Amino acid sequence: MRKLSAVCILLLSLVACNSSPLDRRQVLLYSDADMAQQGISAYREMQSEIPATNNSRELQYAQCVANYVVSALDPVDQSRFDWEVTVFDNEQANAFALPGGKIGVYNGLYGVAVNQHQLAAVMAHEVGHVLANHSNERASQSALRNVGVAAAQILGASDTTLQVLDVGSRYGIFLPFNRTQESEADAIGVALMAEAGFNPEESINLWMNMSADGGPRPPELLSTHPSPSSRMAELRLLMSAANALSDSARSQGRNPDCVLN
Ligand SMILES: [Zn+2]
Repeated sequence: MRKLSAVCILLLSLVACNSSPLDRRQVLLYSDADMAQQGISAYREMQSEIPATNNSRELQYAQCVANYVVSALDPVDQSRFDWEVTVFDNEQANAFALPGGKIGVYNGLYGVAVNQHQLAAVMAHEVGHVLANHSNERASQSALRNVGVAAAQILGASDTTLQVLDVGSRYGIFLPFNRTQESEADAIGVALMAEAGFNPEESINLWMNMSADGGPRPPELLSTHPSPSSRMAELRLLMSAANALSDSARSQGRNPDCVLN
């Protein structure tokens, strides 16, 4: 086992350590340019496979909200990518943002995110994942985990050790890490939507709508997403700061006026 720990320490010393926007230490193995390229090619593939909405008002609405969200980014993040929005014709209540600044909204989301503030909450959360390099982090964790298991195999670790390593990676490192990323994206997202002049309180209503829509959920411990109730509790803690950001944005003339009609 001592040999194994030495390999782990060596591995960790070889990889880049970075900080997320909320100052959490991250291991990022891939370059920004590589991740953007991956994100853009995945986006183009989705665009070729999933039909876009043929309702131009649905697209204009998403674009309006995205413009406000992106305009609240700091200039570096604003120009970091060529931000783009597609509304897919799909009944899922879902949205995503990929490295490279590519945002996708499924029009099924409009049944759950029922006003511009709630749509902004989802979009800003997804943009939060991009700003915090979460895809890079997850890919890096996965690569390191594979290397770790391979190293243990090379060093002749017992089957039991390998099983512990495997379960440890899945439940001890991976899932809590993903939940950490979700909370981080919520915190970044709620500040971002507020800075764009949207009403941050609506992020809580959004999760209420989601949980009413969602049916039975897996136990929180093994889920990659925090349950809506713990998510709403975390958001409530952020609300007074977020409301102050939103008030100040609105007093500076940021009053989003996006409607779907
Ligand atoms: Zn998320």
